[in-house]
Amino acid sequence: MTTANVDPAELAKFSSLAHRWWDLQGEFAPLHQINPLRLDWIDGISPLKGQGVLDVGCGGGILADAMARKGAEVLGIDLADKSLKVAQLHALEAETPGVRYRHVAAEALAEEAPASFDAVTCMEMLEHVPDPASIVGACATLVKPGGWVFFSTINRNPKSFLFAIVGAEYLLNLVPRGTHEYARLIRPSELAQFCRAAGLDLQHSSGLEYNPLTRRYRLSSDTGVNYMVAARKPPAT
Ligand code: SAH
Repeated sequence: MTTANVDPAELAKFSSLAHRWWDLQGEFAPLHQINPLRLDWIDGISPLKGQGVLDVGCGGGILADAMARKGAEVLGIDLADKSLKVAQLHALEAETPGVRYRHVAAEALAEEAPASFDAVTCMEMLEHVPDPASIVGACATLVKPGGWVFFSTINRNPKSFLFAIVGAEYLLNLVPRGTHEYARLIRPSELAQFCRAAGLDLQHSSGLEYNPLTRRYRLSSDTGVNYMVAARKPPAT
């Protein structure tokens, strides 16, 4: 049995906003805005159609639902019940085929079903858990040999403090105040280290850059604030 790698205050924060997951103009608007970008990036590296995909920390299912609509068979997991209910309800209303949701910790699922997904995604979640390396390890265990694992999070440096916390939470009110805690943000070098320790080969990375004037995100080589990485579990020999 694994001990819970979860911060109850973080879950409470997301639960209290759970009814807002699918409000395109609401607190989760940035996730809706980056969704097509990350979806295409993932699909370009590991084509989703027909794949079994696990989405760790799925929230209201913004990415899980979109991956299912691309033809993947998706399981979304989270530890916030309200969010899972909202995700399920959305799938019903939108008649999204091939998406399921379950309340289970990544580490527990890794013990139950190792090497059972063609790809694993874990987006905007690592910066909300006490032990992100343990989540990375669980994702590595859950993916099949040769499969891809995708992570996204926020870098930790003066620029990301300015953009992701001061700018997004205090100046532009893009997300609620207190959404991100500076000390929990993760540098690419740290995420790379977690991947290496988990036996994953980091192969691609991309920045997600926000332009406050156009109020749009785009993929960029600048990983200074929001960024994604794609890592591969070596194929079985
Ligand atoms: N991945 C989604 C949601 C990101 S918000 C997306 O990018 O659209 C972060 C999510 O992580 C929330 O849904 C929160 O409930 C979840 N979370 C936080 N701690 C968790 C944990 N220990 N295990 C699983 N999910 C967790």
